[in-house]
Amino acid sequence: DIPIIYAITPTYARHVQKAELTRISQTLMLVPNVHWIVVEDSEDKTSLVSNLIADSGLKVTHLVAKTPPFEKLQAKDPRWKRHRGVEQRNKALLWLRSNLQLNTDKGYVYFMDDDNVYSIKVFSEIMKIKKVGVWPVGLVGGLNVETPILDPETGKVKAYKSGWKPNRPFAIDMAGFAINLDLILEKTDANFSYKMEKGFQESQFLSYFTKKEDLEPLADNCTKVYVWHTRSEKPLVNGVVVGYEV
Ligand code: UDP
Ligand code: MN
Repeated sequence: DIPIIYAITPTYARHVQKAELTRISQTLMLVPNVHWIVVEDSEDKTSLVSNLIADSGLKVTHLVAKTPPFEKLQAKDPRWKRHRGVEQRNKALLWLRSNLQLNTDKGYVYFMDDDNVYSIKVFSEIMKIKKVGVWPVGLVGGLNVETPILDPETGKVKAYKSGWKPNRPFAIDMAGFAINLDLILEKTDANFSYKMEKGFQESQFLSYFTKKEDLEPLADNCTKVYVWHTRSEKPLVNGVVVGYEV
């Protein structure tokens, strides 16, 4: 059996949502062994997302997990003010732990935000992972490329090149790592949390599973960029810039 790549995508209603989900779903259509876990930030499943999933023909688990109002990003807020995707990613982790079995189900877990751009090459890299794999991410952290820095002697990760707090325990974007499913199923207390400084989600989550020295550098020793942390600008609709509200 080929291991499955469980791709976890939080998503929320706004004008660009259908465009974003079209792009990511059509990327995933090029990957034979993917199981897409789509988690809507809403009370109920929406018909927009349900229809898009049905049209895709992908293997999908469709969940909902609403961000509590006190954590929800407001239209006027800068994006960094709030943790994003916490509730949704935790819901997906809970689904994995409730529906899959350690030692029976084999695969990888990858957090794929709905607005990023992914080369299909990243999925072949994920298939090489033993525990936790890492790679560069384009257009993030105030840099053209954010990347683990390897020790030329050992080939192991020794530091991070990041435009923002490179001394974080793991200065890696959500798009820059994937984890073996075994670890996700073993470490059942590993979840995302609101109780930390903004920008430490990845560091906090990865700390449950690994140490810097044990990270597996992929994408040609972290010399290739296969994912980009793109963001769509808020579109102009009828002459008005529209934000998060639909
Ligand atoms: N997201 C969400 N609810 C929100 C804001 C974001 O579900 O209120 C999702 C979003 O669709 C994306 C992920 O959380 O898949 C990360 O959000 P975003 O791309 O805005 O974060 P950033 O790119 O700024 O890290
Ligand atoms: Mn994003």
